[in-house]
Amino acid sequence: MITGVPASAGVAVGPLHIHVIGDTLYEERSNLDAAEELRRLDDAVVAVDTRLTELEESTRTRAGDDAAEIFGVHKLFLADPSFSDPIRSLIEQGRTAESAVFEGSEALASEFEDIGDDYFSQRAVDIRDIGGQLIRTLAGVGGSDLGTLSTPVVIAADDLTPSDTATIPDGMVLAFVTAVGSATSHTAILARAMGVPAVVGIGDLGFEEGTTVIVDGAAGSVIPDPNEDQIAEAILRGENAKAIADEALASAAEPAVTLDGHGVEVVANIGTAADARRAVEFGAEGVGLLRTEFLFLDQPALPDELEQMAEYAEIFSHFPNQPVVVRTLDVGGDKHLPSIDLEEELNPFLGKRGIRLTFAEDSLFRDQVRAILRAGAGRAVQIMFPMVGSVDEVRRARARVDELTAELDSEWTPRATDIEIGVMIEVPSAAVMADVLVDHVDFFSIGTNDLTQYTLAVDRTNPAVAHMADALHPAVLRLIRAVVEPAHVAGKWVGVCGELAGDPVAAPILVGLGVDELSMSAPSIPLVKQAIRAISRSAVRDLAMRALDLDGPAEVRELLSTR
Ligand code: PEP
Ligand code: MG
Repeated sequence: MITGVPASAGVAVGPLHIHVIGDTLYEERSNLDAAEELRRLDDAVVAVDTRLTELEESTRTRAGDDAAEIFGVHKLFLADPSFSDPIRSLIEQGRTAESAVFEGSEALASEFEDIGDDYFSQRAVDIRDIGGQLIRTLAGVGGSDLGTLSTPVVIAADDLTPSDTATIPDGMVLAFVTAVGSATSHTAILARAMGVPAVVGIGDLGFEEGTTVIVDGAAGSVIPDPNEDQIAEAILRGENAKAIADEALASAAEPAVTLDGHGVEVVANIGTAADARRAVEFGAEGVGLLRTEFLFLDQPALPDELEQMAEYAEIFSHFPNQPVVVRTLDVGGDKHLPSIDLEEELNPFLGKRGIRLTFAEDSLFRDQVRAILRAGAGRAVQIMFPMVGSVDEVRRARARVDELTAELDSEWTPRATDIEIGVMIEVPSAAVMADVLVDHVDFFSIGTNDLTQYTLAVDRTNPAVAHMADALHPAVLRLIRAVVEPAHVAGKWVGVCGELAGDPVAAPILVGLGVDELSMSAPSIPLVKQAIRAISRSAVRDLAMRALDLDGPAEVRELLSTR
């Protein structure tokens, strides 16, 4: 058995198809006419741009705005002179269009890679993807080999590019396995959006085409050449999981109430208005986390106040009477926006990120808060600040919101009057100081992704240590308790919006610790509601207390599996 990073849950069994990226499908030719080669290049650019537009549209329909945005970014690269100018000059020096594209895109990708940062490494993958598409188009072989798959396979690759993934015909991918990548890589994001099991970051692939494998996306395991018993057991596990998911979906609109009558709010993490619409279909009772930075991912300039207001208003319209927690911009760390020039930092996760960045750039904060308040006129709004580590930051952020509400009033601009202010608890200092912070907020939402990374000192994007980033570590659970207890004493509510909230396995612990609201990607909602309906609050309270005293996450998982 080979283990990697669990990237998308589910079990699949099937033959492997090894996908090779970076084709060098070209022949050197002599007696070249540079003008003719430039014309061929221009034609290929138009063809690839058209194809990217089609992929953007079809992906938006299949998997939502977040997944589709990647192709918009690719179109920007394709049109960018820093990509095309070196290629054109290589052609003018006598190269074929194919070899110029290969060399030009490889040089630019290497430059990005040399920066040594996860974000820029992903951009290198994007550039090679676009180069590969241009070469295949020039060579007359169309898109990728994945576009012509006619039997369902487990796709294995060093890494998968978004356009490769999107060309796969419906039903032809059983699972993804990649050599590199982390839970936040494109492959992982797209696999989750497609509902396909995925294991990433397994290291050297070392498989042969056609090998039968079992992929368990939740366990992060790949079993090559399994015996019949292992296959039968995996198929059964997959069928059971699907039956449970189908059953859960049928009751997704019902509330999540424990056997002893305790209600837990189950809400969605979203990034766009399209996500909001999908969240309603999956039974979301509101939005626990709107990651506003996702709205601006492919925009060369940040939308102004009015444009932002329109976005928020559209999202609010999907939840007219339910809470929508709008998180102010959380940029920095591994999240970059083309519109914000970030200084290079040695440890960006410990640097100018989230609220620290918006304090430094007040115009961002002002436009955003005014837009949220204006979009929320006539309804309740919840505003939440990311990466808060001190009481002083909360005081300062609240004071700025107060100033901006006064500013709107002085202009007679309609605004929300029912305003709740909350903070993300994702920095250990905030968790430890929750009993003090609570006097300054209306609610807390615990970001277990970052809280785990900062508590356990495990970079959430680094596959080499990803196996240590388990949010069920008792150290993280103790911090959750340290937040819930003082909040409840003060009559305030506590949510969890990290990935842990969307894991049905964790639901008994989180409900047992007294968490009031769980916020997750929409497809997880039906199963988590189902898990909550199967537990009794009093029993899981005891279970959670026992978990706090265990040695580590493995013991907590053992406790949960044997209860
Ligand atoms: C978190 O850190 O748990 C969280 C929800 O925020 P993000 O994943 O956007 O950093
Ligand atoms: Mg976070």
